[in-house]
Amino acid sequence: MIHSASVKSSQDNQQLNDSLVEHEILRTNHRTGMSVADLKQAFLDNLFYDQGKFPALATQRDYYMALAYTVRDRLLQRWNHTAATYTEQGSRTVAYFSAEFLMGPQLGKNLNSLGIYNQVQTAITELGLDFEVMLAEEAEPGLGNGGLGRLAACYLDSLATLEIPSLGYGIRYEFGIFQQDLQDGWQVEKTDKWLRLGNPWELKRPEWEVEVKFGGHTDTYIDDKGCYGVRWIPDQVVSGIPYDTPILGYQTATANTLRLWTAEAPESFNFESFNSGDYLGAVYEKVISENISKVLYPNDDSSQGKQLRLTQQYFFVACSLQDMLRILLGQGFPLEKFADKFAVQLNDTHPAIAVVELMRLFVDEHHLGWEQAWSITQRTFGYTNHTLLPEALERWPVELFEHLLPRHLQLIYEINHRFIDEVRIKFPGDEARLTRLSLIDETGERSIRMAHLACVGSHTINGVAALHTELLKQDVLQDFYAMYPHKFQNKTNGVTPRRFMVLSNPKLTDLITTKIGDQWIRSLEQLQQLEVFTDDPPFQDSWREVKLNCKRELAVLIQQQTGIIVDPNSMFDILIKRFHEYKRQHLKVLHIIALYNRIKANPDIDITPRTFIFGGKAAPGYWMAKLIIKLINSVADVVNRDPDVRGRLKVVFMKNFSVKLAQHLYPAADLSEQISTAGKEASGTGNMKFALNGALTVGTLDGANVEIREQVGAENFFLFGLTTEQIYEMRSKGYDPQTYYQSNPELKLAIDRISSGFFSSGDTEVFKSLTDSLLYHDPYFLLADFQSYLNIQEQVDLAFRDTARWTQMSVLNVARAGIFSSDRAIQEYCDQIWNIKPTKVKLPFSNSQESPDAPTNSKQISTAGKIN
Ligand SMILES: *Cc1c(COP(=O)(O)O)cnc(C)c1O
Repeated sequence: MIHSASVKSSQDNQQLNDSLVEHEILRTNHRTGMSVADLKQAFLDNLFYDQGKFPALATQRDYYMALAYTVRDRLLQRWNHTAATYTEQGSRTVAYFSAEFLMGPQLGKNLNSLGIYNQVQTAITELGLDFEVMLAEEAEPGLGNGGLGRLAACYLDSLATLEIPSLGYGIRYEFGIFQQDLQDGWQVEKTDKWLRLGNPWELKRPEWEVEVKFGGHTDTYIDDKGCYGVRWIPDQVVSGIPYDTPILGYQTATANTLRLWTAEAPESFNFESFNSGDYLGAVYEKVISENISKVLYPNDDSSQGKQLRLTQQYFFVACSLQDMLRILLGQGFPLEKFADKFAVQLNDTHPAIAVVELMRLFVDEHHLGWEQAWSITQRTFGYTNHTLLPEALERWPVELFEHLLPRHLQLIYEINHRFIDEVRIKFPGDEARLTRLSLIDETGERSIRMAHLACVGSHTINGVAALHTELLKQDVLQDFYAMYPHKFQNKTNGVTPRRFMVLSNPKLTDLITTKIGDQWIRSLEQLQQLEVFTDDPPFQDSWREVKLNCKRELAVLIQQQTGIIVDPNSMFDILIKRFHEYKRQHLKVLHIIALYNRIKANPDIDITPRTFIFGGKAAPGYWMAKLIIKLINSVADVVNRDPDVRGRLKVVFMKNFSVKLAQHLYPAADLSEQISTAGKEASGTGNMKFALNGALTVGTLDGANVEIREQVGAENFFLFGLTTEQIYEMRSKGYDPQTYYQSNPELKLAIDRISSGFFSSGDTEVFKSLTDSLLYHDPYFLLADFQSYLNIQEQVDLAFRDTARWTQMSVLNVARAGIFSSDRAIQEYCDQIWNIKPTKVKLPFSNSQESPDAPTNSKQISTAGKIN
């Protein structure tokens, strides 16, 4: 056990300590009690004392805030005990470094974690207020683009639930991912002012402010012991201020921390300029500093190479590492124990500069020798790769580095020099290999390869699905695999069942729980126990009833948002994810057009009625992705209005796809569309959320689809399309989309209808770049996969008509998808990468699950907030 500074100081003050314990017992009922009466009292207190309102003046926002503070008080109790336990025990800690955390709304999640959903709902209702409206009031913290940021959020949930000491480190963007609006079918972006009305879940910690340097130059010096050293003389210094959000595990006492950094100027005013009368000049520096954490870059799977982005990356990494040193030294550990105290995971290369920054802290600021510093650094970091797309691999021009981080460039050269020597020893005389492996790309403008830096500086490199890891070894990182085969591991992604089942699909949760108890919520493999009920007719009826209910609720939401009326008895065929050509939303559009054309050619044709639902954002600078959104809306306009099609096909685009919206979509799906070009999607997690909510998948052998199919059984999965190998082969032989276009009349008609202006009031120009791309390049092989996709969709149509069989497949998907829990993924990271074990946190006295009025299990679960 380590005696930390803070423990000592509180021990010194025995009197305060005793008073705090006494006070905690006294206030338990008023401030943190879980009974309906306590909750009502606390809510009214918070309305009065925190919002400063009496009921006649209070707005919905005040009610939401008062409730959020009521919940927060109960989180804080656990949070403080967790922090005290970790400090006392000096627990080994995971630091999850991520430029994005897509957390989703916190209120409902925290109510479920605390186990007080039902009591709070009752308390609020008894006060005559609308609980659902209160939930819907919460602004989503959209601090991520898509899968990568959401993965980070699921992992924090699992870390806390598995009682693993951990910190999430990232950036508190003032503006998160833009709000997506539609004008005439085109995406329009609006700033996401998520903090405008305040964020009740965070606590500012100005006392842990740190400074971050930028620019300038370096200098050498000889110290009093005659040792050579390097000094970095920056030309700008920025303050990093941490804001903490508690992350409570599911019905545990563990509350970990998400620590996000905001950039501020160290002095509000530059007094030199101020005194000389240059008032605007004086505040200029403040404005420049604050820009760093102003806005999230809205690109998913592509790197723009902008200076501000590198500034953001270095900023949060430098803040976090300093913070970790403060914790380490504060708990009485020596510097040399850094890698024993912390396991740092790099979520993609966005935080990869941490490798160099930690070396700089050790070597320049704490005067460790290079070898020792490097050994600690390598033992600290693990690197998760998230992509197979070349355009997503981060490269920063050497010139930019020299300008922004001059000392880091020198250190990178030194790291590279030593690495290249290592390669020479392993592969003598192989000059081409040195060029390929170097941290510096010398072709064209010289640049730093961040993935190479991450590979060299980490003890472990992992992919995020079995296929992805294999492709990293064989292709993207093959030279690193040859160099360090022992570093490579696979960690297939997972999702948290607490948010994506319990919170968002309470009726399914209750149905499952009545059959197999509630332990599956923490041990998702237990869903296997559902298999014995697969063919049980009353269970099947209940299962269908649950799905129909979700679809009805979504139908209401669709009508509110779009005015479109959809039939909950039709098949809900859903494609929701970021817009990207490799994800092939336009293949889905070709399918819809082909069905439409079949109906037009033969109005009596027997087609299974479907509602096609799309959602997702396009990067604002990604023209083709935006054009695909426009195409969907144009096709929707024609199809939804055509009387020949009535009752058979509906096309809906739900704008502003987010976690909040996602929670209404995954549960309502019959069919999950996972149709990326094989070899392009690293894993996908949307595919897992759908399967766990009883949707069947139509998909390619890509990412985690491969493993989903293995788990649920080939007979319960609709497979189509070329394999990765076939795609590689076709590309190497010279792929010509024209051969498919010319020989397939349905394909030709579908594309011709787009070109002819049929969906664009005669405008033959608007979609030309899209059709030209398909006809003359088709880099994602839509035309090659088109017929296979149409064929499998006919199988889907037939299967959906056999209700009993479909239900059986749906149950089997849920029963066999338990492995895709983020708990399983995090357990693997703990055992195989981080070498870390749980630290139990105990409340000093129980007012939690065991208290007499506390709920017993899933009955406290209810719906997620409505969408505004
Ligand atoms: C799960 C999720 C994603 C990732 O979806 P994929 O289909 O795996 O690309 C993106 N955005 C949100 C809001 C999500 O919940």
